[in-house]
Amino acid sequence: MEHASVLDERKEFILQKGGCAGNGLRCDSNSISGSISQRACVYCGARVVLNPITDAFHIVHGPIGCASYTWDIRGSLTSGDDLYRNSFSTDLKEADVIFGGEKRLLAAIEEIAEKYHPKLIFVYATCIVGVIGDDVDALCKVMSEKYNMRVIPVKAPGFSGNKSVGYRLACDAIMNLISVHKPEKRYGINILGDFNLAGELWIVKEYMKKIGIPVISTITGDSSYENLIQAPSATLNIVQCAGSSTYLANRMEEEMGIPYIKISFYGIEDTTNSLIRIAEALKDREAREKAIAFTKKESEKLQDFLEKYKRNLKGKKAAIYVGGGFKAISLIKQFKSLDIETVVVGTQTGKKDDYEMIESIVNKDTVILDDTNPAELEKFMKERNADILVGGVKERPLAYKLGIAFCDHNHERKHPLCGFDGVVNFVEEINRSINNPVWKYMEVDL
Ligand code: SF4
Repeated sequence: MEHASVLDERKEFILQKGGCAGNGLRCDSNSISGSISQRACVYCGARVVLNPITDAFHIVHGPIGCASYTWDIRGSLTSGDDLYRNSFSTDLKEADVIFGGEKRLLAAIEEIAEKYHPKLIFVYATCIVGVIGDDVDALCKVMSEKYNMRVIPVKAPGFSGNKSVGYRLACDAIMNLISVHKPEKRYGINILGDFNLAGELWIVKEYMKKIGIPVISTITGDSSYENLIQAPSATLNIVQCAGSSTYLANRMEEEMGIPYIKISFYGIEDTTNSLIRIAEALKDREAREKAIAFTKKESEKLQDFLEKYKRNLKGKKAAIYVGGGFKAISLIKQFKSLDIETVVVGTQTGKKDDYEMIESIVNKDTVILDDTNPAELEKFMKERNADILVGGVKERPLAYKLGIAFCDHNHERKHPLCGFDGVVNFVEEINRSINNPVWKYMEVDL
């Protein structure tokens, strides 16, 4: 396909279904220089995974900007502590860059240890610390021993790769925390990659309760130090956000013998399949029967609601740009069930398997993008006449400027979009935005 306004180096990251076969879509690599990637930096990738641990202290060893950039970045809710909503910084200045920042980090850890007596501190080393070379590992070790608490280094200079590298560093930090604990094995699951955005994890936990499956640990939504160290006892890991947590699931399988399955609780189809698959993976016949009965009842309850809204939405076209592949796949299915065609779809951190699955379920001519930028999104949304964009905070202004409806499906959102409850919120939001009378008054040269 022709990409007149696309950088030459970006062409391999864009695919049109049914176009030239080529070598498939290029993905899972660093962003192209000069392309305004919507991805966050390595440090931010690590921070967003670890941040929801409710009783952890997060010290950002770097200039104050790194701390403010990620302060309370997720809409993760808590049923316990709310320490995680604070941000602590060593506030490095020019003199520290010249003479080293270790003294400031030592002072920060000591102050927190003496004032709050925490069990767990994460120390993030950001860009400038990666340049000046403070010995963060040694300092964390000394402080752990001195105060008898876990001080875990997360060496995540923003420039050292892409957001996925940050995800891996966060997973390594979690392994560092939990692998020293050997609790007795018991029947139950860990939920990986659910960050309790707008209370979504609580919905999933309620479903598990209904079908009789105990939840042991949640990584990391609404979790705590005590909850996390129980994770090695689980029978099965389920992975919701595959982009951020598959690496952790793999490490837990290899090192702790806990198998995992990838699931998704977005949309009726994926929620139903996921609950049944979890019961099957546990070989729990009773839970499977309960899951079938429960999902059937919940799906039936939604049929009239969906029929009503379908009339307003039929024939509309959607563009999707989200973090991971599994969410994109669920969204395509959700739109299909509403008679909405997905015409553009992309992710920040999708893998080869995700894109193959995406390609297999979208219609011919759909544009598929990896690690795209606003210029490309604008071009393809205009070309394909998208009526709505599903994305995050960075995509919202773009959609509105183009006079296109928008649905926030990122970590800042304020209402849950998962499970059967989430279907109602999602469909109502899509309808409110697409059919909003404001679009009649917009004069946009599309
Ligand atoms: S780690 Fe680097 S790229 Fe990330 S916020 Fe800090 S300075 Fe910016």
